[in-house]
Amino acid sequence: MNIANDHAVTFYYQLSEQDGTPLEGNNGEMPMTYLHGHHNLLPALEEALTGLTTGSSVQVVLSPEQAYGPIKPNSVQRVPIKHLASRPKNLRQGAVVRVQTENGAVSGRVVKAGKFVVDVDLNHPFAGKTLIFDIRIESVREATAEELAHGHAHGVGGHQH
Ligand code: ZN
Repeated sequence: MNIANDHAVTFYYQLSEQDGTPLEGNNGEMPMTYLHGHHNLLPALEEALTGLTTGSSVQVVLSPEQAYGPIKPNSVQRVPIKHLASRPKNLRQGAVVRVQTENGAVSGRVVKAGKFVVDVDLNHPFAGKTLIFDIRIESVREATAEELAHGHAHGVGGHQH
């Protein structure tokens, strides 16, 4: 079965930067399952996977524009610590926090921590990076009616309720 809209696709991946620095991946761990054609992956990544089948391996290179966009210089915000949507115990530089914005809660990285406020960089951690995905398709199947209604895949590697 070839990957098309309304299919549940299970895959393994390794994500690296252009210079080969590994960023994340799930090789040797639980595969990931997503529902194709429902905006669950980056659009350019979904497009590259369309038509592949079980056992296919592919390398997909995404420019920052196709991935998480360029680094925006003006996205450091000063936020009162008590207004953070979530935060680790240790609020030091580099810590990941959730900040409430008009578009909902987003993740950011602490660039400077004070006693009552933190300066948070709201750029996506992969912003400005060319991303290289090495992907192996583990399985492709028709989505269930329930998955289509929910807009995401269920089961191993999918959404758990
Ligand atoms: Zn669901």
